[in-house]
Amino acid sequence: MVLDETLLVLHDSLFRDIYRVRDDGVVVFKTYIDGEWIDTGDYIEVHSPIDNSLIALVSKPKLEAVESTIDKMYRMGRWKVRDTPGDKRIELLEKVADLLREHKDDIVESLVLNAGKTYSQARGEVEASIERLRKAKMDLRKLIGEYVPGDWSYTTLETEGILRKEPYGIVLAITPFNYPLFDTVNKFTYSFVAGNAVLFKPSSLDPIPVILFTRLLEEVGIPKYSYTLLTLSGRDTTEILGDRRIGVISFTGSTETGLEIIRNAGIKQYIMELGGGDPVVVLDDADLEQAAGNIAVGITSYAGQRCDAIKLVLPEEPVYEELKKLIVDKLSKYRVGDPRCPANSVGPLITPSVADTMMEAVKDAVEKGGVILYGGKRLGPTYVEPTLIEFRDREKLYETILFKKEIFAPIAVITPVKNVDEAIEIINKRRYGLDAAIFGKDINKIRKLIRYLEVGAIYINEYPRHGIGYYPFGGRKDSGIGREGIGYSIEQVTAWKTIVYNYRGRGVWRYLV
Ligand code: NAP
Repeated sequence: MVLDETLLVLHDSLFRDIYRVRDDGVVVFKTYIDGEWIDTGDYIEVHSPIDNSLIALVSKPKLEAVESTIDKMYRMGRWKVRDTPGDKRIELLEKVADLLREHKDDIVESLVLNAGKTYSQARGEVEASIERLRKAKMDLRKLIGEYVPGDWSYTTLETEGILRKEPYGIVLAITPFNYPLFDTVNKFTYSFVAGNAVLFKPSSLDPIPVILFTRLLEEVGIPKYSYTLLTLSGRDTTEILGDRRIGVISFTGSTETGLEIIRNAGIKQYIMELGGGDPVVVLDDADLEQAAGNIAVGITSYAGQRCDAIKLVLPEEPVYEELKKLIVDKLSKYRVGDPRCPANSVGPLITPSVADTMMEAVKDAVEKGGVILYGGKRLGPTYVEPTLIEFRDREKLYETILFKKEIFAPIAVITPVKNVDEAIEIINKRRYGLDAAIFGKDINKIRKLIRYLEVGAIYINEYPRHGIGYYPFGGRKDSGIGREGIGYSIEQVTAWKTIVYNYRGRGVWRYLV
């Protein structure tokens, strides 16, 4: 199933100084801290999900070095960004976008080998990142202030207030493995354009695309000490979470990690994009062919390792049997295997332990009465079949791992509903509230679902997809706090400051009191 050796080979001379290659082909990366690339001699091992082989070692900074760099970012870096005129910040981001296009080949390769993406998914992630950098101008529509007249309270007559927005200073961006490049680019773009310095903490599973991206920032001349790469394990990162110099934590990852971060970091500004796995309601007047095609993509895209992947399908009873058959038919067309092979559309899971988790969930579902309609088998350490499981008994469904937890793999449950009220009850019973999708035409049913579903976004006649955040997304309940989206996240990395001007007795106003 695996094509050939998974060796990471970088061709671009721009990256030459940030790594060396060992005799066995393993690439040893430096890390970027304190404005320098350094080989610390202490490494994180990086494996390829394609065949689980070791492809790289990434230098881990010492905690004292992290402490020193946060100090420099606080004293110098954040002011260097803030003192860079807004137009110049935009120009720098444009240049990063140009460089990303020019040097994309090694980055695409790193997304395929390190994250297990197909070439088309990897190129798509690079394109999305370029577009995000170029859309920084659209973020600026929210970087304006407000004027509050003193007229409306006797105590504030002859005064006026101006509310201005200013950057918090340092944003700690912690990203998950599934969109390693895009998530970093997105968090960097809205934080930097608003005038913040940024600490990048990539996933230890696939940090290579982020390391290469960091080199691009250095190349375009983003001010020194205004960005730092923290190639630390999650556990080591815990040590710095409570640092008072870090004003914002922008985290994307699982609900469990999000909760641990909040416990350790205490009072701060948070953007928390957490676990999800989305439900979809199919109404009895839906175009079933279109719905089934969308649902199959929603289940299988990037092997179901997306927060907005479809995990629960709720068709109304009259269309249940036909929709079920159509989805199974669509799923049977997906080929699982080495993502470097163009014929394969579903690549590996990020680690064998994720495949273990999925197999446990399948076993648990079957023990509780679920019927496997498609898939259910493991095809290799990190390869699994796209899987659809049917449940008729609602109470049993509620007890399953698949209902209670997010399984980050291409697996979904299908169960019929009598009407939209039943769909609302099931969806709102889940601990997550990221998105939902609705397929159908009846505007009254659609409108009712929109009113009652406790989720952050609803996609109508389309599977949930966050894309570049042109439309803002974010969760409710255990799916998070805040919104990621162009022109929306910027509000959470800037703080209001109220300025009150007192003109009493200066003859500016003449109130008739
Ligand atoms: P994860 O295991 O929670 O890890 C996410 C990041 O947190 C990694 O960089 C990880 O570092 C770090 N981390 C782990 N423990 C930490 C700690 N105690 N303190 C600070 N950082 C810590 O998530 P994942 O498996 O990479 O990603 C999948 C999850 O992300 C899913 O739940 C998915 O739904 C969610 N997600 C949500 C959205 C959204 O928009 N809502 C988007 C994408 C993904 P190490 O790798 O070093 O452990």
